Amino acid sequence: MSATTPILRRWSGLLLAVALVSGGVVYTVEQRHQDARARLAVTTPAPPSTTPKPSRIAAAVAARRLAVDLILVRRAQAVQTGNEQLFLADIDPTNKKLVAAQKILFANLVEIGFDELGYSQAEERFNPEILKAHGSTTYLVRVLMRYQIPKVDFTPVTTELGYTFIARGGHWLLTSDSELDNDLGPGAHREAWDLGRIEVQRSPRVMVIVEKGDTRRGRAIVHAANEGLAEVTAYWPLKWTGSVLVIALDETDVRDARFADEDIESAASTGSTFSSLPGQETVDGTVAGGYIVINPNQRDQVDEILLSHEITHVVTASLGGYEPLWLAEGSAEYVSWRGIEALSGPGQVAKWEQEVVDTAVPQLTALPSDAGFYQNSADVYGVSWLAVRFLVRRIGLDKVEELYEDMARNGTDQAARDRILQDRTGLTEATLWTSLTTYRPQR
Ligand SMILES: [Zn+2]
Repeated sequence: MSATTPILRRWSGLLLAVALVSGGVVYTVEQRHQDARARLAVTTPAPPSTTPKPSRIAAAVAARRLAVDLILVRRAQAVQTGNEQLFLADIDPTNKKLVAAQKILFANLVEIGFDELGYSQAEERFNPEILKAHGSTTYLVRVLMRYQIPKVDFTPVTTELGYTFIARGGHWLLTSDSELDNDLGPGAHREAWDLGRIEVQRSPRVMVIVEKGDTRRGRAIVHAANEGLAEVTAYWPLKWTGSVLVIALDETDVRDARFADEDIESAASTGSTFSSLPGQETVDGTVAGGYIVINPNQRDQVDEILLSHEITHVVTASLGGYEPLWLAEGSAEYVSWRGIEALSGPGQVAKWEQEVVDTAVPQLTALPSDAGFYQNSADVYGVSWLAVRFLVRRIGLDKVEELYEDMARNGTDQAARDRILQDRTGLTEATLWTSLTTYRPQR
């Protein structure tokens, strides 16, 4: 079926690396006063025989920072005002490929229609090969793109980019937007608008992004997402007023979804958005919500059953993301199977439940753990679903939803998870598992 991408855990490694390099260059008001002199330093470099004074270097750095800040402000303004010329004004005109790609990017960004959009410089990055390729003025910088899509994002969220600037004739120009990609977090520069010309289809609570011209499919997915959202509203007690973003492009790598390798078996994946990226303020970052990405090979099979599973992940995403995967996937399966039950009656669900009891449970010796969950060849989705069905029968759906919220917010380690589960259900993961092994579904 599908997968939430356990992004919190995946990110932690990188984070430390990011934390170490950030905080290097800080632009202060004081530095602003040196602008005039600094601009001079950039345009007329000192002769090689003289050793530049440190203050002069600092001034040049400050001037570069200001110049690039202004470029970034212009880019955001250009999108907000629909001014393509302004957007392209700071692109290296000799890089025809980049200019063409930036035209597409501009059109995509305008089509998304951001409530808020801004770019800011994080830290400078150093790469001798890139320096060699572009010359001594090369400035490689990690850039934070902060934006808010109307109704989809409850708060502004952040994604990262890597830009290469060069100085030519006294002006700073963007000459590449992809040279830092491999050193950024998972999914960076793989947002829906980064991958070719898109088209947006909408309904009041759904936004679908497809390839330009793929209108019919876009509308069909809007329809399926509306039905999926209705199922989640009907079968999951959490009140959620947001809008769902579904990305269905002809791309195997979109955001942190990897349908060419690790997520190859998944029909869809829900990945987090961050109001604060991992490493920015905290190691895990702050999850704001989630976007759904459809496997390109499954775009014709998108229905409300698949989407109700993913939308359950979306509506629970902003709770915190610390819930165990068996609870996250089990709840998403619970909702989508309630939808199947409503469509085809209880027979199919009963048959499936019996199959999980008879064949899936005996393959495991405990509740599926987070580690290796998505690589497990056993039916971990089925067992997770059974665990949630069992809990719903034991404490009721509302209490299971409260358990979910508590876990998502506070289940930061195994001890906390055990305590929450024990307090709210009277079970540990071990006794819950034992209950499943002896569980006989009631008919
Ligand atoms: Zn899932």
